[in-house]
Amino acid sequence: MSTADNDYTQLFKIQQQHFLNVLKKERLFARKERLLKLKKWIKQNQDAIKLALYNDFNKSPQEVAISEIKPVISEINQALKELRNWAKTERVKTPLTLFGTKGSIVKEAKGVCLIIAPWNFPFMLAVGPLVSAIAAGNSVVLKPSEITPNTELLLIKMVKEIFSPKEVSIVKGGIEETQNLLKLPWNHIFFTGSPQVGKIIMQSAAKHLTSVTLELGGRNAVVVTKNTNFKSTAKKLIWGKFFNNGQSCISPNYLLVEESIKDKLITELKFEFVEMYGNYADEIKKNPSLARIVNAKHFDRLKALLDKSIEAGGKVVFGNQFDAEENFISPTLLDNINIENPIFQEEIFGPILPIITYKKLQEAIKLINSNESALALYIFSNSKKEQQQFIKETTAGTTVINDTTIQFTHPNLPFGGVGNSGLGKAHGHFGYLEFTNKRAVLKQRKKHTTSQLIYPKYNWFKKIIIKLITWFE
Ligand code: NAD
Repeated sequence: MSTADNDYTQLFKIQQQHFLNVLKKERLFARKERLLKLKKWIKQNQDAIKLALYNDFNKSPQEVAISEIKPVISEINQALKELRNWAKTERVKTPLTLFGTKGSIVKEAKGVCLIIAPWNFPFMLAVGPLVSAIAAGNSVVLKPSEITPNTELLLIKMVKEIFSPKEVSIVKGGIEETQNLLKLPWNHIFFTGSPQVGKIIMQSAAKHLTSVTLELGGRNAVVVTKNTNFKSTAKKLIWGKFFNNGQSCISPNYLLVEESIKDKLITELKFEFVEMYGNYADEIKKNPSLARIVNAKHFDRLKALLDKSIEAGGKVVFGNQFDAEENFISPTLLDNINIENPIFQEEIFGPILPIITYKKLQEAIKLINSNESALALYIFSNSKKEQQQFIKETTAGTTVINDTTIQFTHPNLPFGGVGNSGLGKAHGHFGYLEFTNKRAVLKQRKKHTTSQLIYPKYNWFKKIIIKLITWFE
């Protein structure tokens, strides 16, 4: 696909015609067929997907299986099973004032949709929304991330092998290509990426009043109170933080630990880290479970952030070893962090975990609320009272009690942010609804209707009727 503006306009027009003439009229069966073809391709090409992700940033085949392939297959299976229910026209109750009418909600596809994906789960975050868009009956232009070129090429191959360009097309490229795409009057844009770029997407969408789903990131806090099991908390934290080497939107950004238990928790964190990833830099580097930082730009960003943080007083508990040639940063735990420390100021998106202490839960809650709303908040506590206080007094797109990151895999929970961490929800039925217009259809009787009782001229009888109607409300 050329990068010229006109080519995208042409592509858009072709998809729009196809949507109006074919997709809008076709039966659910045709959508299911497309989903089945996608599922078959993914199942047959699992090795190729694993290889692409390994070549992009050393992601282990096991992590690819769990976090790139499995979630997409589950999305497809759920859509195949539930589509008839999701797409069903819903009848609604009729109020007395509209007696004789029939109201219903018709689920119609929005039209020609643009999906823009990030690099950190480059297969799953491109194909997951594609499943929702196809299930809802739309045509799609997909723009994968240019930062993971092997996965980008594989996605291009996949789309070309399975779909007609009228149904699903793929555009290769980075900022310039995306900005050209954003000039078009899409019927919906589904964007996954940073809050900074999310604002650019929303501004472009506003020009055409295009609806948007923004799946963004943020600074996710983990609160650990003294009412917890340290060993299992540490195990879950090490796994959740260093999965994908910390390059995940729901990865813990900082730990808020009750002051009196900090040392005990650190001991357990060190132990669990060694169990999962090894003891020495060389051993950790050779561990095939640990992905690399995606590129030199992000390696430099993370190294500079870590240096600044240590300069500002951060104390290394473990980690802080580098190999620039391999974009390797060993997972790092930082103690002695306060809220002025640079590491606390931004989304880390890498294998660094700072610890901050608090004395009272209220203090931790106040700190969380002083930040922009997060995509994920976690609390480790066996006290129901503390769990409830945490839920009631904070806000977040998603929250897990006594674990991290697993919320992503729940097929019946909405996935998305609030405020700075996003707009709209993904996954399963929620993802389907993002790509669907809930069209209100009201059918009136053919001849005399009750609403004619309130048409002018307002004689004494109609005045009484209007009085009665308003009196009953
Ligand atoms: P990014 O915002 O830099 O890029 C995302 C997409 O936007 C890419 O396809 C890129 O080509 C395009 N893009 C980048 N700059 C652009 C610009 N100026 N104009 C138009 N298009 C542009 O994000 P990323 O670095 O790929 O991913 C990391 C971010 O994504 C993190 O903030 C992370 O938290 C977030 N994220 C969120 C979720 C979620 O589900 N909520 C999932 C993964 C990642």
